[in-house]
Amino acid sequence: MLDVLIIGAGPVGLACALEAQRKGLRTAIVEKGALVNSIIGYPTNMEFFSTPELLEIGGYPFPTAHYKPLREDALDYYQRVARSEKLDIRLHETVLKLEGEQGNFTITTSKGEIPARNVVVATGFYDLPNPLGVPGEDLPHVSHYYKEPFQHVLQHVVVIGAKNSSAKAALQLTRAGAKVTLIVRGPEISSSVKYWIRPDLVNRIAEGRITAHFNACVTAIRPDAVEVRTPDGPLTIPTDFVYALTGYHPDEALLGRLGVEPDPADDARAPLFNPATHETTRPGLFVAGTVCGGRATSRWFIENGRHHAQLIAAHLAAQVAA
Ligand SMILES: Cc1cc2nc3c(=O)[nH]c(=O)nc-3n(C[C@H](O)[C@H](O)[C@H](O)COP(=O)(O)OP(=O)(O)OC[C@H]3O[C@@H](n4cnc5c(N)ncnc54)[C@H](O)[C@@H]3O)c2cc1C
Repeated sequence: MLDVLIIGAGPVGLACALEAQRKGLRTAIVEKGALVNSIIGYPTNMEFFSTPELLEIGGYPFPTAHYKPLREDALDYYQRVARSEKLDIRLHETVLKLEGEQGNFTITTSKGEIPARNVVVATGFYDLPNPLGVPGEDLPHVSHYYKEPFQHVLQHVVVIGAKNSSAKAALQLTRAGAKVTLIVRGPEISSSVKYWIRPDLVNRIAEGRITAHFNACVTAIRPDAVEVRTPDGPLTIPTDFVYALTGYHPDEALLGRLGVEPDPADDARAPLFNPATHETTRPGLFVAGTVCGGRATSRWFIENGRHHAQLIAAHLAAQVAA
């Protein structure tokens, strides 16, 4: 019988596991993909917004050659921490449901059943893109995940969205030699785009290297074009590839099966939990990391979400001691 089973081996799930293990609790993580699976899926050359010390877990220093760590620095760092702490991590095993009660939970996974006294949900949000809900969205030249520009050189690419991910993708694609058209639902590039990225994008639009349509809405995607409604009337934009970078959301169906109740007073449907312990309304079931924000996926990130680990571990250790 484990004292605590953690669902998800992202940065926050790892932090939870190592803090619990250091408190002497029998701990394991179940992860449906690879170790730090979400970060593996990030753009190949992405640079974190945070400086390295703000991404550290378990007190391990995060040395990098750069002021801001790259994706591969973070992969190396978190995977090293997991290995150094000899965490019990069960990879490529998906958690499906949770039965029982605190002290005697049964977690059903794709590989069998695991008994545990307590469960921490640290499943993030990166697996489920926010759909556009338009015809053609499932065509093979449409993706909700951007990796790198090289396969699009000398091609027309439509990027949908005006936040950090779309801004960075549009700039990288343009510099690599793609012809980018940006479709923006609002009247301007979002003010939430980082202060060192936004002016770069605004200036590339002003000089005509990137075409941008504001107050514009995609109505359909065809194999060779995107249909857009704009204030000046409908447009047909020829395209070879479409990046619909319209954000992601947590797996609410899974949260429901686990017994995580959404806060009815929160528009983002964030889980109801005690902020002092991160315990949900189901005793013995905790939430940690980005999943705590529900659909507000930028409410919690690594910088602030990593601290959930100490709160949960301290609470569980006190409970075991009592
Ligand atoms: C491009 C980009 C740049 C970012 N830059 C920064 C930054 O500079 N600073 C910062 O603080 N944050 C940043 N973030 C946000 C940060 O990466 C996330 O907040 C962070 O990954 C959250 O960690 P987590 O452990 O809560 O979730 P995740 O890292 O998403 O981990 C969740 C894990 O749960 C697993 N999982 C899901 N469902 C199941 C299941 N049913 N069974 C088993 N396992 C499951 C997933 O496979 C995944 O590995 C960035 C995000 C993006 C997309």
